Amino acid sequence: MALLKPGKSSMEASSYRPVSLLSVSYKLLERLILNRIQPTLDKHIPIEQAGFRNNRGCVEQVLALTTLIEAEFQRILKTNVVFIDLSAAYDTVWREGLMQNFINIVPCKRMSELLNNMLVNRMFQVFMDGKKSSTGQKFQFTDDIAIAHTCKDMKEGKNTLTNDFNILERYFHKWRLRPNPDKTEVYGFHLNNKEANRELNAKLKCIKYGAPVWSNSAHTGKVDTLLNSVMRLISGVVHSTPIPWLSVFSNIAPPEIRRNEALMRLFIKTNSYKNSILYKYLENVPDIRLKSRKPPWVKARDLIQSQFCSATKWQEETGHGRCGHMMFKRKLKDSQECDCGNDSENMRHITDECPNRRFELGINGINEVTKEAFEWIKDLDIEI
Ligand SMILES: [Zn+2]
Repeated sequence: MALLKPGKSSMEASSYRPVSLLSVSYKLLERLILNRIQPTLDKHIPIEQAGFRNNRGCVEQVLALTTLIEAEFQRILKTNVVFIDLSAAYDTVWREGLMQNFINIVPCKRMSELLNNMLVNRMFQVFMDGKKSSTGQKFQFTDDIAIAHTCKDMKEGKNTLTNDFNILERYFHKWRLRPNPDKTEVYGFHLNNKEANRELNAKLKCIKYGAPVWSNSAHTGKVDTLLNSVMRLISGVVHSTPIPWLSVFSNIAPPEIRRNEALMRLFIKTNSYKNSILYKYLENVPDIRLKSRKPPWVKARDLIQSQFCSATKWQEETGHGRCGHMMFKRKLKDSQECDCGNDSENMRHITDECPNRRFELGINGINEVTKEAFEWIKDLDIEI
């Protein structure tokens, strides 16, 4: 299927992103092979590569890079980064060389033949408006590279980067990869820059994506406003509903709590797997000298130390859901028993069953929002 990239002309073939729908039995075979070879291959892949690997991810790589930059700020150093985008890496990579590398690691003729057959002469055909295209070749490999260099002054840093780039160019040539000049960028990260105050683009496609990296940004408020209006929309509440209650009605934790949780989870994961550059950087982060900076690792450590729990934190703000069942779940009570002797003090028990409290007409009656229901809630000794 051909999907038109946003904002591109529908008349150009290059404006389309092809998406293949593969046969399920083929995908099953691929998965069987992957499960067999992955543990062996994984030992030979450098930790810098996080793509297509278990327990690794893109956000972690971005956080590793920002951790490096942030750590160098603390050491009064600057960082130059080249972001390299390879054009059609999957199609152009030197397949024979790749297969030779594979055989060196997995010396199995049958397996390498099988893989080679999967990669050679893979054709795809695009169907559009009932018409078929001619066929082309397809091949897969991971791309997207960033190389970073720290330095005292930008000039010195640029020379080192140029040297690095020359080495990379030879590597690209060998592997038949071509950096895409339109999408390859060079950035210098330093603090004496007015650009640092540039506004965060609030038109994020997925608003929590990569949150561990930007959760300390001064611009999170703008994202929050957008998120709150979405929660208002989902829950269908009246406009005057206070912000803390939006989370309760839409059953989505408040943005900041979700960001903190994402940050904490990533750090806990990184600590338990240890096979990433993020872990390597976090092992020797410097002491905080610049009081104005709030690096994510400081925040993550605080969160882990205070045993941050998103569920508890969230409900603290509104005080809702304080029945025995929920309090027990959140480890705030030793038992979920009701004082009437029932073994669980849950919502349904309180509204419909509890001899000490129940509402005559039950939960359905409460949903009618009658004067009686209102009085019952007001007199209730539990915040639900
Ligand atoms: Zn009861």
